[in-house]
Amino acid sequence: MPVSTELLEILACPIDKKDVVYHKDYDFIFCEKCDIRYPADRANEKDVCAKCGGGAKKIKGDVLICSECNRWYPIIDDIPHMLPDELREDLV
Ligand SMILES: [Zn+2]
Ligand SMILES: [Zn+2]
Repeated sequence: MPVSTELLEILACPIDKKDVVYHKDYDFIFCEKCDIRYPADRANEKDVCAKCGGGAKKIKGDVLICSECNRWYPIIDDIPHMLPDELREDLV
């Protein structure tokens, strides 16, 4: 089930409370070992995990991007993950 319009309407960036924009099939880098993903267009290395330095792979995923601060929030298994800054560490 896709993320509902109703849900998107109530979701906001937890940092500045601005609207988030939904992007489907966004390119992500995914590291299975760390279980982290981050947008490919913000990664320096496309095939190496920024956290553990191990091999990472490209996947497609859905993402919410804040219209104000440009922070990104992945949608995993149809659940938006509104990550606080502590959890994204050095991935942005
Ligand atoms: Zn890793
Ligand atoms: Zn924001």
